[in-house]
Amino acid sequence: MTEFTTDKLIRMFTTIAGAIEANKERLSELDGVIGDADHGVTMDIGFGAVTEALANLDPAGTEPTQVFNTAAKSFLNAVGASSGPLYATAFMRAGAAVKGRTSLDRDAMVAAVAAMAQGIQDRGKAERGEKTMVDAWLPAAEAIRAAAEEGQSLQACLEAAVKAAEEGAEATKAMLASKGRASRLGERALGHVDPGAASAVIILAAIAGSATA
Ligand code: ADP
Ligand code: MG
Repeated sequence: MTEFTTDKLIRMFTTIAGAIEANKERLSELDGVIGDADHGVTMDIGFGAVTEALANLDPAGTEPTQVFNTAAKSFLNAVGASSGPLYATAFMRAGAAVKGRTSLDRDAMVAAVAAMAQGIQDRGKAERGEKTMVDAWLPAAEAIRAAAEEGQSLQACLEAAVKAAEEGAEATKAMLASKGRASRLGERALGHVDPGAASAVIILAAIAGSATA
C-alpha cells in the first residue's frame, strides 16, 4: 500500500481501537503502578467513541482532515483523563497537517505523525525525559522524518516510527516523572514503563499494521 485513502484511514482507527482494547488490562496495570489505574479504560473508551463516530461518516464524501477532526472531537468528549485533550490535540493537528488532501501518501502520513507528536507536546508541555507519552511520540516523529528523508517507503517509515517509540517507551523505565499523576511518586516511579508511552507504541504499531492491510 502506498497511501491511506479516507476509507483506509477510518479502518486504521478501528484497528487502533482493537489493539487498545486487546491491551486494555495491561495499560491499566501499568497505570496502577504509577498512576490511577485507568489508562487502559480511558483509552479504550476514547477509541471506542472514535470508531462509533467514524462509522457515521461516508468515506466517499469525506476527506482525511475530517476523519481526524471527527476523531479529535469524539475522543475529547469521551475521555475525561489527561490523555483526552492530548490525543484530541494530536488528531486536530494531524487533520490540519493534511488539509486539502484526498488521500495520504508517505509524506502526508509523515506530516500527520509528526503533527500528532508536536500537538501532544504543545498541549501537555512535557519535555522529553519527563516520563510521559512524549518520550515515545517525539522519537517516533524524528525517526519517521529521517526515514522519509532517506527515501524509504511508507511502510518502512511507519516501522521506523514504531521502533523508535518502543525504544522511547522502554527508556521511560529509568525516568522520574515530573508531569501527570506519576510526578507525585518520586523514585517509586523508577523501573516502570509509563502507561501513556506504552499506549503510544500500540497506536503507532496499529497505524503501521494498517499500511500493510
Ligand atoms: P490520568 O493521568 O488523568 O489518569 P491517563 O491515565 O489516561 O490520564 O493517562 C496517563 C498518561 O498521560 C501518562 O502515562 C502520561 O504518559 C500522559 N501524560 C500525563 N500528563 C502529560 C503531559 N502533561 N504531557 C504528556 N503526557 C502526559
Ligand atoms: Mg490514569
